[in-house]
Amino acid sequence: MSHEGIRYMTKEEQERASAEDRPLPRIAITPQKVRVLLTEGKGLEIDWVDGHRSAWSFTWLRDACPCATCVEERKNEGRKPGQPRPKSAELLPMYKPPAKPASAQAVGRYALQFNWLDGHSAGVYSWEYLRRNCQCQECTFAASDTEGAPN
Ligand SMILES: [Zn+2]
Ligand SMILES: [Zn+2]
Repeated sequence: MSHEGIRYMTKEEQERASAEDRPLPRIAITPQKVRVLLTEGKGLEIDWVDGHRSAWSFTWLRDACPCATCVEERKNEGRKPGQPRPKSAELLPMYKPPAKPASAQAVGRYALQFNWLDGHSAGVYSWEYLRRNCQCQECTFAASDTEGAPN
């Protein structure tokens, strides 16, 4: 049962939505250094030209896969990029090893692609997508600050 219908946005939400549409400065979405910590199994780190440093775990990245199928799936389940699927929604709850890519490669000059060990590799993670979803303490704190009360 889902609650469909008109969704009213608060002023803050509107401001936030328009902030998300605002283009980021080029230096904020140009990586200076990209580190895929494959052997450590840790995740991805990017140093941006504007001096910011971002880090994402592989688990987060897998749950934030930007391919059409995963985006649709998250939309249907009401999950945000990087938000894991609730345990109860899994058909066969069993131990899953943490997500890890077998390899990663650059896509042109604008994105990164992971070949996940589970066989999925459709997601193209653009620099902009990654920067907008920066998981560093500073950015996640700023994001949770504007999220408002849970409903
Ligand atoms: Zn995907
Ligand atoms: Zn950040």
